[in-house]
Amino acid sequence: MGEIAAKVLIVGGGPGGYVAAIRAGQLGLDTVLVEQNGLGGTCLNVGCIPSKALIHAAEAFSHAVEQATSAPFGLKVERPTIDFARTVEWKDGIVGRLTSGVGALLKRHNVKIVHGHGVMLDGKTCQVAADTGPQTIRAEHVVLATGSQAVSLAALPFGGRVISSTEALSLPSVPESLAVVGAGYIGLELGTAFAKLGAKVTVIEAEDRILPLYDAELGRPVARRLQALGVEVLTGARATGLSQSGDALLVEQAGAATRNLTADKFLVAVGRRPYVAGLGLERLDLAMNGAFVRIDERCSTSMRNVWAVGDLTGEPMLAHRAMAQGAMVAEIIAGAARVFDKVAIPAVCFTDPEIVTAGLSPEEARKAGHEVHTGLFPFQANGRALTLRAEDGFVRVTARADNHLILGIAAVGAGVSELAAAFGLALEMGARLEDIAGTIHAHPTLGEAFHEANLRILGEALHI
Ligand SMILES: Cc1cc2nc3c(=O)[nH]c(=O)nc-3n(C[C@H](O)[C@H](O)[C@H](O)COP(=O)(O)OP(=O)(O)OC[C@H]3O[C@@H](n4cnc5c(N)ncnc54)[C@H](O)[C@@H]3O)c2cc1C
Repeated sequence: MGEIAAKVLIVGGGPGGYVAAIRAGQLGLDTVLVEQNGLGGTCLNVGCIPSKALIHAAEAFSHAVEQATSAPFGLKVERPTIDFARTVEWKDGIVGRLTSGVGALLKRHNVKIVHGHGVMLDGKTCQVAADTGPQTIRAEHVVLATGSQAVSLAALPFGGRVISSTEALSLPSVPESLAVVGAGYIGLELGTAFAKLGAKVTVIEAEDRILPLYDAELGRPVARRLQALGVEVLTGARATGLSQSGDALLVEQAGAATRNLTADKFLVAVGRRPYVAGLGLERLDLAMNGAFVRIDERCSTSMRNVWAVGDLTGEPMLAHRAMAQGAMVAEIIAGAARVFDKVAIPAVCFTDPEIVTAGLSPEEARKAGHEVHTGLFPFQANGRALTLRAEDGFVRVTARADNHLILGIAAVGAGVSELAAAFGLALEMGARLEDIAGTIHAHPTLGEAFHEANLRILGEALHI
């Protein structure tokens, strides 16, 4: 049995864990990272990156199909086809480049990587069934970063035709038909991609609208696009199990007879839960927040020198939040006085069109006791959007009525994910309407709609 002593032990090599490890290494801390699967975690291997690759390929294919059928700007394309095996190979190539890049960065910063499943024996000791034999790692500080996994439904356990996002990202071919249970961002991102690749997609959502965690105004352009793509959306509907033959999903909708929905694959995307299987949490005395590990504003758990970051600690389960927490914890361990006091954690939904939100929605701002003004600028009046044939959508700004402090910014439209940086920066720097109004925004760009939404609240909009 090998024994390793270190200053910092990190369990889990996803965005939370690997960023904590890189930062700890940069700060000269003797660091060990334990990972049971691929470096990069959910995000690089079966989440953010492969899903965005698939979404991009599907978008390119649907553009080609559109040119072949209606040639809106005169491109001549004849009957495009897709070699899906090659698409998956391309996607896997990107994943490979990024995960090996993470390995190289960890090495450069002298982080020791132990491959294998880690089990906590106590708050300072972890046992790993490593490829090279059992290892016991003792450290002064432990960072738990084991992430999350897809939630399954009791009536629809994963297996056979019932798949999670992980399997959906590595299908050998485009299914002829796909039923997606759950119209949150993961279900809709993947459902839209497969619809563009030619699958007949049906979405089943228990709430009365898609993207129930977003405000209704932001979901409308996405609902319109799903309809244009021929995606059937059943809201107020529940998948209650499989038919006896296993090839149909039983779907119950108020006021309607139970429907047998046949499909080649049933993608269950109803949420994610903390990944703590076999971690030995029962041996630690950690306060919990429901199923998640409870942390304070320093990502400190209820045990001294045991830290937790990322999805394991709850919503918002986003890679960039995990990374920011990971970097912060490494700095705290190195002696810095830091707290996680971000004004906003932008969130992007890579649907068609995309949605980006940062800070508060108008309703949340009002609930928080603010009197607010909102300004909305539609992409129909934005030159760049017209040149992209992407008019559906808008930028919306929410600001305090008294001092014009911007509280929230949201956008829905093609390519708006790239506006997340501007929105996050404005909120983090405490921008007021006049700050954005006084900033020159390059023309012609989608960002001009952000400028105009601010101007609109001030009664100074120029292009509407
Ligand atoms: C389909 C999909 C698309 C997504 N798209 C986005 C997106 O566009 N943007 C975004 O911000 N987020 C997205 N996410 C969410 C994002 O992937 C997660 O928020 C992020 O990966 C969380 O990072 P983490 O480090 O907390 O955990 P994870 O990335 O889950 O990493 C945890 C790691 O810990 C390892 N581990 C667990 N237990 C042990 C153990 N006992 N021993 C050793 N290793 C262990 C796991 O193998 C895993 O590699 C997406 C998720 C999915 C599923």
